[in-house]
Parts: sequence; structure tokens; C-alpha cells
Amino acid sequence: MKKNTIVLFFLVFSTITSILLLINCFWPIAGLEYITRTDRLAVWAITAILFIYYRSLNPKPQLAPSMLAVEKDNGKAKDKPDVSFKDVAGLEEIKEELQETIDFMINPEKYRRMGAKIPKGILFYGPPGTGKTLLAKAVAGETNSTFLYASGSEFVEKYVGVGAKRVRTLFEKAKKEAPAIIFIDEIDAIGSRRNQDSNNEKDQTLNQLLVELDGFNTDDTVIVIGATNRIDLLDEALLRPGRFDRHIYVGNPNLPAREQILTVHTKNKPLDETIDIKALAKKTTGLSGAQLANIANEAAIIAVRKNKKHISIEEFEAAIERVIAGLELKNPNILEKERKVVAFHEAGHALVAKLLDTEIVQKISIIPRGQALGYVLKFPDEDRYLLSQKELEDKITTLLAGRAAEQVIFKEITTGAKDDLKKATSIAREMVCSYGMSPLGTLALDEYYIKYNYDTIRLEIKKITDRNYGRALELIQDNLQILHTIAERLLEKETIDSQELDLIFKKYQRTTNYAM
Ligand code: ATP
Repeated sequence: MKKNTIVLFFLVFSTITSILLLINCFWPIAGLEYITRTDRLAVWAITAILFIYYRSLNPKPQLAPSMLAVEKDNGKAKDKPDVSFKDVAGLEEIKEELQETIDFMINPEKYRRMGAKIPKGILFYGPPGTGKTLLAKAVAGETNSTFLYASGSEFVEKYVGVGAKRVRTLFEKAKKEAPAIIFIDEIDAIGSRRNQDSNNEKDQTLNQLLVELDGFNTDDTVIVIGATNRIDLLDEALLRPGRFDRHIYVGNPNLPAREQILTVHTKNKPLDETIDIKALAKKTTGLSGAQLANIANEAAIIAVRKNKKHISIEEFEAAIERVIAGLELKNPNILEKERKVVAFHEAGHALVAKLLDTEIVQKISIIPRGQALGYVLKFPDEDRYLLSQKELEDKITTLLAGRAAEQVIFKEITTGAKDDLKKATSIAREMVCSYGMSPLGTLALDEYYIKYNYDTIRLEIKKITDRNYGRALELIQDNLQILHTIAERLLEKETIDSQELDLIFKKYQRTTNYAM
């Protein structure tokens, strides 16, 4: 039974007793004649204590999110970020695009005189950790505006009307503290298409947001910036002109941007001469700004742990592994038989990745990290914006090569391929449903079709994964000697780096980019 139910039970009991004792003071009740004054006072005191305790267990629900609950009358804007565009590395074209908005916030009169309408809503979309929040803060910093942060999920409540009230309060506060930037992160939590489910509360919140966006007048120097990883889920009404009509894609940084981000985040850190930021940027293809910032910070923490005065490349390499693969497990208790399976599983991935030249293998390891018992650290050679059908299939083959190696060597498969299967299936699903790369046709399939024809779709996904599993088995069988050498080296010294892998391939005179 829950604690507050028990307290409530005793509270009801003692309240009834207290009332009876009170009545007994004026009209004696049979059976209660012998109750003394002290007894009465004790029962009343216990009731009062129980009442106070019960209230403390059930605080009044807070209607406004904590961000909105800051005292309204203190006058001073407390949320002015000291972030500027200098702190945002790369993203030059986006910063340029935002210059006009900044100019409007600083010189609104100039635009009003011309009768120009400035966009009220800007939508940043793109993968996580690419600097969307940072950009919004920088706009506030550049314009010395109040920055009001809200996350879409803060508005989602089960009580009808609460979300809508929060939206109203947020906009009222922004108008009061103008110039202001309202930043709504994860806007898809409230802004997803209204016909997808019949969530009345969510609809009301979204409607209120639309009302507030429409309700701005040109005198309000308030800009609303929304951010989402899933623009495809947003309601059309939210995206139409006059609302979030400027859509800006914020993607993962390319090589020069990665270099700049690493420079910004190592600015105040003592680096030694072994660090070549350009080389580090080259080694981290595909990582987000947040991951790069995290790597720089982890490297500094590792250097402190080692009592070093400067951060060297060694710490950076350890930090990359820490951020990509997770925390290294100290003294893991793994059966020798399982270690062997992991060694062949990882050797399978590395062998096929190298044969098909899908990505640069930087390291293979059987030291457990995070939830993985082993891993292959690999990055694409360069920034890629398009992938061919063959490249996607090569990726699937590489992902399934761990399981294929287990099957070939041990004639048995294990649960170790769980994550690989998930990733391979996801790529195959995209090929069928989004890229038109299956016999179902050169078309993209919408959610409705997918939902009602999943059996047909699953069959096509299966054809792709089966085909590539077959390829992986074949590649492993054809290169068994290399597989054994990699796995044995792993069992002996736990990790292999890219140079050593190159040497193994050279020894067997095996070239990469293996055509099948
Ligand atoms: P999400 O979609 O998960 O909310 P986001 O796109 O809003 O992520 P941010 O929160 O802005 O990402 O970025 C997280 C951190 O990553 C920033 O605080 C910053 O340290 C770093 N970062 C990301 N991009 C950049 C960049 N272009 N320049 C400098 N730092 C960056």
C-alpha cells in the first residue's frame, strides 16, 4: 500500500475521533465520559500533525513549468545568454541567414517603416547535437534579448487545458520581457500532425500555439524558434507562412566545421604538440558537434585523471572511444568461450569492412565497453551526402558479418548480433520504404501504406538482409585465414589498430574493395 494511502487512513480515523471528542465537550456521548482534557488535546494534536504530514506528501500540482515560474515582477531579465555567434563554429550559411532576424531585433523601426513583415517563427531541424539550441541562444546573445527555453514535452500533460495555459503564460512572459527569443525544443512533442491520434490535450496545446503565433503584432519584437529532429511529423498548420515559415536544416558538421568545433572546444585547454586538430577532425567523420564537444571535455578529464599537465593525442583517442563506444568495464568477468566468440564476431566485422572498403577501421577491440563485449571503431573516409544502393548493401553486409563469422566458426549463433540486426534492418527498411530500392517500386511508401501492408514490406526487407547475410558468409569463407589471424591477435592482445590490420592484409596479399 502506498505511504500516503496509509497516512490518509489514519488521518480520516483521527479526524472522526477529534470531531466526536469536540461534540462530547458540549453534549456528553455515552462511552466517552472518562476521556480527560489531556487525552482530547493529544488526539487533536495528532490529527493536526497527520494533516500537515499528509499535505507535505501531496504538494499542490504546479501549473507552470519551472522556467515560467520565476518571479514575474522582479523586472530584470534573468535569461540573457552570454553566447554569441563566435561560440558557434562552422554553420556559416545559417549564421548569415539569421543576420536579418538579428537586424530586425536590433532595428525593428527600419523594417516597420518599410511595412516589412519579419518572420515570427524559425524552425531548426536536423539530427541531435548539431547546435540548434546553441544557435538559438547565440541569436538571443547577439541581440541582447531574453532567452526563454521550453521543451515541447513540458507542455504535454494529461489534464486538458494545462498545456494550452503553459503556452499562453510563455508568450505573455516573452511579450513582457521583449525583445525576446522563445525557444521550443522538441517541438514535435506538441506539434505533430493532429489527425495521427485523438489526443485532445495535445490538440488544444497545438491550437493555442497557433493562436499565439498568429496573435503577435508587428510591435512585438519576439521571435519564436522551434527545434526538432523530425520535421516530417509536424502539422502542416504549424509550417505555413506566418508561422514557422523559415525552415533551416542544421546537419552534422563537415570536415572544416569539425575542425572549427574542435578548435572552439579546445580553446581554453592546454594541448601538447602531439595534437593535430585537422587530423582529429578527419578521424571523426559523421560525429555531431555535441559529440565533438564531449570528446574535447573527456580528453581533458582523462588528462587530469592521469595527473598530466597537457592533453596529448593519447587522451583524445581514449576520449573518442569513450564517447563512441561507452565506458570501459574494469575487470570484466567473461568466460573464455565467450571471449572467443566476441573475438571472431569483431574480426568478422573488421574483415568485411576492410574487404568492401565501407569505412576506415581505426581499431578493433574485445575490451567490453558500455553494453558491448567488443567493438570495431570505424569512420567513413570522407563526408558523404549521397550513398549508392551498393554502398548501402555493403553496410548491411558489414553489419551482418559478425554473426556470419560466428556461424562459420562455431556453427552456432549468439545474441551478440542484436544491435547489428537492428541497424541492418533499419537500413533495409529505408531502402524499401524511402529510397525506392526494392521490387516494390521506385517510390516512397507512406506510413499508412506501411501500416496496412507490412507483411509485403517485411518480405522485401528480408530479401535484402538474407542476400547480404549470404554475401557476408561467402566473404568470411573465402578469407578464413585472415579471420583467424585477426581473432587470434585479438585474443592475445585485446586490441588491433589500423596499421596492424593493414599488415595482416598485406601478409595475405588481400586488397580491399572486394568485388563479388
Ligand atoms: P538536440 O537536437 O539533441 O536538442 P541540439 O541540436 O540542440 O541538440 P545543442 O544542444 O545546441 O544541440 O548542442 C549541444 C552542445 O554541442 C553545445 O552546447 C555545444 O557545446 C556543442 N556544439 C554543437 N554544435 C556546435 C557548433 N557548431 N559549435 C560549437 N559547439 C557546438
